[in-house]
Amino acid sequence: MTCIWVLGAGQLGAMLQHAGQPLALDVRPVDIDAYQLPQLAPNDLVTAEREQWPDTPVTSLLSQHPRFINANALTTLADRLTQKQLLDELQLATAPWQPLAVDTELTKLHQTLGERVLLKRRCGGYDGRGQLWLTANQPADIQDWREHAIAEQRVPFDEELSLIGVRDATGHEVYYPLTLNLHVEGILMASIAPLARLTTLQSQAQQMLSRLMQHLSYVGVMAMECFRVGEQLLVNELAPRVHNSGHWTQAGASLNQFEAHLRAISALPLCTPQIKTLTVMINLIGIAHNTSWLSVPGAELYWYNKSVRSGRKVGHINLCADDIPQHKQRLTQLQNLLPAQYKKVMAWVNQQF
Ligand code: ATP
Ligand code: MG
Repeated sequence: MTCIWVLGAGQLGAMLQHAGQPLALDVRPVDIDAYQLPQLAPNDLVTAEREQWPDTPVTSLLSQHPRFINANALTTLADRLTQKQLLDELQLATAPWQPLAVDTELTKLHQTLGERVLLKRRCGGYDGRGQLWLTANQPADIQDWREHAIAEQRVPFDEELSLIGVRDATGHEVYYPLTLNLHVEGILMASIAPLARLTTLQSQAQQMLSRLMQHLSYVGVMAMECFRVGEQLLVNELAPRVHNSGHWTQAGASLNQFEAHLRAISALPLCTPQIKTLTVMINLIGIAHNTSWLSVPGAELYWYNKSVRSGRKVGHINLCADDIPQHKQRLTQLQNLLPAQYKKVMAWVNQQF
């Protein structure tokens, strides 16, 4: 039987494996530092739960397999420089930017991009790490960012949205409704979907992601993070994989993003996901496990079994309810079981209904 190997054995790999079980798909996440090399058969498939990886015996074995899906797309999108170049080439709106070269002068950088400029490392950044805000006329030591970062204009966005799209090898595409996201200090804290007020932006977002996926001959799930500025969407970044802002689909859709990815790469029928209910996803960041979360009706806990460290994603909770009043009641119940920093997160969620 064909195995689906996953480059990386974090929570995304685990959730892909979990989603494969009802379909009897043999999904095997592989730790990038694994000592023992897996035995890959020529007909096996290889996918990735991450867009970057260090060169290890396992990563070179997996990424050089002839059936490693989206190899070229991963290379282009893993580097913010080539990702931004692609967005420009396809004329997709994105935050104005420029490469940070050896000789880029800070004064000129601010003249072009404005008072506040965000440096983003080309590779390796996540959850807001690998970023540095610059302010005009304030000294900053950016020597080791040169050539390794891009510089971006600050976008005065109204809110952050993401679109999860899926494409199969025949070019058939399906999309989930736009997701509204709250990021705090660069980390995703909460997602909500679907929201009626976002439906007017759905086709704009789909056209953008469709252009990208077609151009890259992409197969599987891709996430597009966007800033909404008025009625316009600007692409913030792309993730060529299942994505945290799509976790709500585990509870809120007939077909979740993990199964959708597996179906697409395995050439199984890919139908439009049926949306079951309004779902709120709360990320558990750097906090201890608490079994009492399970006492909240409609709450589905995913605990990643990782050691708890400040700022680390250790789990998430998908919360469903029949109607808005019930949602609000359950959110309050959950908030009482979470540390104080979640008060603001829950207040934000409550404002969206
Ligand atoms: P991820 O964990 O999603 O991969 P990341 O650390 O790679 O995130 P981004 O998504 O680019 O980085 O940025 C993190 C957050 O920082 C964004 O969600 C947004 O809140 C803020 N941000 C990023 N770029 C800009 C910008 N140009 N203007 C204003 N805010 C920004
Ligand atoms: Mg991001």
